[in-house]
Amino acid sequence: MSDIKKMRIGHGYDTHRLVKGRDLVLGGVTIPYEKGLEGHSDADAVIHALCDALLGGMGLGDIGSYFPDNDPEFEGIDSRILLRQVNDLMSKNAYALINADITILAQSPKMAPHLTEMKVNLSSDLGIDTDQINIKASTTERMGFVGRGEGIVAYAVVLLSTS
Ligand code: MG
Repeated sequence: MSDIKKMRIGHGYDTHRLVKGRDLVLGGVTIPYEKGLEGHSDADAVIHALCDALLGGMGLGDIGSYFPDNDPEFEGIDSRILLRQVNDLMSKNAYALINADITILAQSPKMAPHLTEMKVNLSSDLGIDTDQINIKASTTERMGFVGRGEGIVAYAVVLLSTS
């Protein structure tokens, strides 16, 4: 029972609009595509959802309170830098990530060829094994804004342990 009290769950969600003239960066991987995600940073929705899940699990609010999107310091920033800063916060607050499960919703391009590289990037930034991170992708069967190719969505769920 005491072990159960030391577990905390976190959930994160992010979405960005697909536009011309931007790189498509997800999970730290630049994916060849005719459009990219619009945002103040590199708009990596996978990392943003993961950061929000980790911050949520720690009870520390959300990514916007740590990295405001009107702060010039974060303009065009590689979101992996933000993830590493969130990882530092976990260490500082004595949390460890047990596992993360991430879902990407995108009508196109195909995510499958890039999922392994994303896992390698994220686990490297968090100092954990690749098998502690699962990333899967789905279309929305052409329904809604994702299905029309207007944007990409990412969800993340994490389980944290406290020491
Ligand atoms: Mg975002």
